[in-house]
Amino acid sequence: MSIDPKRKRERMVREQIESRGITDSAVLAAMRKVPRHLFVEEALRAQSHEDHPLPIGYGQTISQPYIVALMTALLHVQPGMRVLEIGTGSGYQAAILAEMGADVYTVERVKPLHNAAFTRLNKMRYFNVHLKLDDGTLGWPNEGPFDRIMVTAGGPDVPPPLLDQLTEPGIMIIPVGVRQRSQELIRFAKRDGKIMKSNLGAVMFVNLVGAHGW
Ligand code: SAH
Repeated sequence: MSIDPKRKRERMVREQIESRGITDSAVLAAMRKVPRHLFVEEALRAQSHEDHPLPIGYGQTISQPYIVALMTALLHVQPGMRVLEIGTGSGYQAAILAEMGADVYTVERVKPLHNAAFTRLNKMRYFNVHLKLDDGTLGWPNEGPFDRIMVTAGGPDVPPPLLDQLTEPGIMIIPVGVRQRSQELIRFAKRDGKIMKSNLGAVMFVNLVGAHGW
């Protein structure tokens, strides 16, 4: 029999997240609370807290717990902020942001994944998550601008509509790479009429596919 999910989450947070230097208490609390095992298929539940991404069907993945925590911490999310996520996938990252009190707008291009995430998040009563089936490289113009933007798939370049839909001040985190499945995590901070760019190191995400993607 597998151990209780709550204990698995506690161990995941201690061994994969706190031990690697993430100290943001809101991020840690959300990672302890969101039931990660319910975001993967039943057959993979026993593995859902392991230190790597897992398949969610259609060639896509749910990100590794540490990467979710890292990207969320880098975003400095405050309660009440409007946050746009591109790449809903399982809906796990959206749930983490919602748990932190954000108003989450998340876009997915694969219909069955969008539908499954919609049902799952509703069942879990994450009513502050709004989902859309579309090409997220175009952003969500009707709902923008957004205080924070997080892209959880990697494209060859930064989609211009996303930078346009970022408030000032605002922060965007996005993996970018000219080779597929190999990117640099980039942070853009819009402040005082300028856009500051910082490079945060190598990551590996599935493809961002769309008008401003692959
Ligand atoms: N954040 C997800 C992991 C996402 S995997 C989670 O927590 O589970 C990346 C997702 O981005 C995939 O589901 C993929 O279908 C989606 N994607 C790729 N290109 C996209 C685009 N242009 N617009 C919206 N979603 C896209």
